[in-house]
Amino acid sequence: MATQHIIIGGGPVAINAVETIREFDAAAQVTLISDERAHSRMALPYWLSGQVPREHTYTADDASLKQLNVDARIGQRVESIDPDGSTVTLDDGSTLAFDNLLIATGSSPSELQIPGTDLSGVQNLWTLDHTQSLLDTIDGKERPKVVMIGAGFNACIMVNAMYKRGWQLAVIARGQMPSARVIDEGGAALVEPWLREKGVELHCGATVPSITDAGDGTKVVELDNGTTITADAVVMLVGVKANTDLVHGSGIEMDQGILVNDRMQTNFANIYAGGDVAQGPALYSDKPEVHAIHPTAVDHGRIAGANMAGHEVHYPGSLSMNVLDNCGLQTFCFGNWNDAEAETMTISNPGGYIYRKLLWRADQLVGAVLVGPANDMGMLTDVGMVKGILQTQTRLGQWKQFLAENPFDIRRAYIGAGVAQKLIGMTLTGQASRPRGFRFDGKIPTAKVSDAHATFMGTK
Ligand SMILES: Cc1cc2nc3c(=O)[nH]c(=O)nc-3n(C[C@H](O)[C@H](O)[C@H](O)COP(=O)(O)OP(=O)(O)OC[C@H]3O[C@@H](n4cnc5c(N)ncnc54)[C@H](O)[C@@H]3O)c2cc1C
Repeated sequence: MATQHIIIGGGPVAINAVETIREFDAAAQVTLISDERAHSRMALPYWLSGQVPREHTYTADDASLKQLNVDARIGQRVESIDPDGSTVTLDDGSTLAFDNLLIATGSSPSELQIPGTDLSGVQNLWTLDHTQSLLDTIDGKERPKVVMIGAGFNACIMVNAMYKRGWQLAVIARGQMPSARVIDEGGAALVEPWLREKGVELHCGATVPSITDAGDGTKVVELDNGTTITADAVVMLVGVKANTDLVHGSGIEMDQGILVNDRMQTNFANIYAGGDVAQGPALYSDKPEVHAIHPTAVDHGRIAGANMAGHEVHYPGSLSMNVLDNCGLQTFCFGNWNDAEAETMTISNPGGYIYRKLLWRADQLVGAVLVGPANDMGMLTDVGMVKGILQTQTRLGQWKQFLAENPFDIRRAYIGAGVAQKLIGMTLTGQASRPRGFRFDGKIPTAKVSDAHATFMGTK
């Protein structure tokens, strides 16, 4: 009999797992249960900013799921899991049996416990529905004013999207902007003045005791320092929590997320977890970590999918990273960029909005922070090379001293230490992933590839 795989979720973990299962096993039964249609949350800011239509956030549709031979239950929820009986129960009361289960339920924004969060025009900004709701609230307003409560990774991404729309923005941060979980103090010291210069109103070191309705459609956000801000919409993004409700009391082991090994298995060998809900191997830590970012979700989906399909592969671990465009100032943090024990090399040019920090354990780079204007091409290529060094965990030997003397010449160290060769040979599952082939409504992109782009792409 064909193996029965059940996947809960419709984000990048789920879709990558389905596609990987099909790479190894055409006959397996795959059932996908997701309360939202399959999409990529990291594409939501591009829709919010007006750069792409809503449809470009979708990652699968009925036709592509049919082509993958998936029994897709979109709009349904899994209510409970019975690990010993190997069954899940859905919101319509039906029960499905599995040989392998993948929990890919993602994460949600933490709730702000203050009066006024239930007012219309006051909302989270995490899902397709949230994004639509904000666009509806500001519809028809020429330069709406939006208050963002929060200064974490997702808050910064959404501030940038709204900035691109030309909206008036105020950000309330409990600490620095961006928050200490997003960047170090040296980097934040450049982001704050840059954002002020761009007209973003920052209220750092402040909290919000309440939000009230002004009666004319606007909302009034009160700060603990006595300041009040009137806005057309208020967005709350004050933290992230893994969607682990399903596993509470089930016997599946958890810490900050569902604990998984390097095959994405939980303490039940036939139950896997991945992405924002999972706490798994990390490249620069001995302990499992939650890395709630898209690249980790893709990796987890592919590793889980391969193992579920009987192809044993082991994950070296995910690389923690925050990559942000802060209204034109780009910030990149990789690995253990807040490691207080690490040896550091730092360059700072506040006038040019340039800041770089490399963190070392002996001759191994273990973290990096790079900050610079978006049009600084040199920095952008350096970023890719720094990430490659960290991803391959290459010890740099003599190149460490070279970088101490030539901090902007990452290229020579990258080539000299053989990082490019290592990257070319690296795959997650032992084989390259196939082109996805999914296009919404089967539409072919209308943009033409420029000659320069074709030459660049043709060199590999
Ligand atoms: C606004 C925003 C912007 C982001 N931008 C970036 C970025 O620029 N770069 C980056 O690396 N990361 C970004 N991220 C993070 C990235 O999107 C997540 O890390 C990634 O989506 C996690 O994938 P996942 O498959 O684990 O979960 P998700 O994408 O959250 O998908 C999980 C799905 O499962 C569904 N589900 C949950 N419980 C159940 C249930 N019981 N039954 C049925 N379905 C259920 C959920 O509704 C959801 O649709 C962003 C996130 C947000 C919210």
